[in-house]
Amino acid sequence: MDNKPALLDDFHWLMDVLQFIDVGLVIIDRNYNIQLCNAFMQNHSARDSSELLATNIFESFPELPETWFRRKAESVFSLHNSAFTTWEQRQYLFKFPSYRPITSIAEHMYQNSTMIPLKNIRGEIDHLCIIIYDVTEAAVNRQQSDSLNAELERLSRTDGLTGLLNRKAWEFELEQELQRCTRYENASSMLMFDIDHFKKINDNYGHPAGDEVIRQTAKLTQQCVRSVDITGRYGGEEFAIILPDTNADAALMLAERIRKCIADSTAFYEGTSINYTVSIGISEFSDQFKNTTQWIDNTDKGLYQAKENGRNNCVIQAT
Ligand code: GH3
Ligand code: MG
Ligand code: MG
Repeated sequence: MDNKPALLDDFHWLMDVLQFIDVGLVIIDRNYNIQLCNAFMQNHSARDSSELLATNIFESFPELPETWFRRKAESVFSLHNSAFTTWEQRQYLFKFPSYRPITSIAEHMYQNSTMIPLKNIRGEIDHLCIIIYDVTEAAVNRQQSDSLNAELERLSRTDGLTGLLNRKAWEFELEQELQRCTRYENASSMLMFDIDHFKKINDNYGHPAGDEVIRQTAKLTQQCVRSVDITGRYGGEEFAIILPDTNADAALMLAERIRKCIADSTAFYEGTSINYTVSIGISEFSDQFKNTTQWIDNTDKGLYQAKENGRNNCVIQAT
């Protein structure tokens, strides 16, 4: 029995499948001339096969990174291995617009791609097939969830009222600083300060006015410190600062600057002006501190002493 018609049928079906499958297929020869370009490629590039067939791929698709593409393709030709590229490495090989409404924030299609070596009947690799997968939806979703996670992670470290590090995040930074000081014997200091008679501010002007005073304190503090200093809101109206590479005397100068800046400033809330002061405890790192709690407690003693001294002053606490 003659089975030729059946083989031809197979071939036609195969060509139909290649045409209408929802991935891009391009076959090029050894000279980078296009031998086949399926409907996906034609539709997305808005060109028909007569415009693409037998043309050089770099001329028809000038957006292809030629040097990179040739290096990759030559290794597929010579090593007979497939090569895979993801959208994370390159957003796309072929610059196609992105149509899907759900992914409207992506201007261009995100693509994964594979290059496959194609053997002729003599077993030689003289063609290469490029397969393009449209992964725009997955890529956009991943990017959205990555940025959402980064934002959540930032929020989980931030104090909502002041934008400073919250206590947990600040203590984490202090732990890192303590380890650094222990390992390298660096000088490092800590400040802790607390707004004086803050209860009266709340009582006299109301809680929202108190909040404004806390916000202003954070803002002024940020203006006084260096970018390497790490400021946190430690509690209600208590703040803490890590001063890397700073001995107690230098820390006292910064503490004085903060204290004076706050004492000289006025907070405004709904037409009311509020003047207030802070007291500051200072403690330089000592290798006697075996954990952050001991360092914090020592600094807190300085703060307590500053309150005892009559408030609106700074005290260095010896170890
Ligand atoms: P001292 O000079 O000894 O520090 O006196 P103080 O009145 O500041 O005393 P204390 O530190 O004990 O008082 C803190 C007050 O801060 C008590 C609490 O109601 C208030 N507070 C804590 N968190 C907040 C906040 O987020 N907003 C406002 N408005 N008040 C807060
Ligand atoms: Mg307090
Ligand atoms: Mg207070």
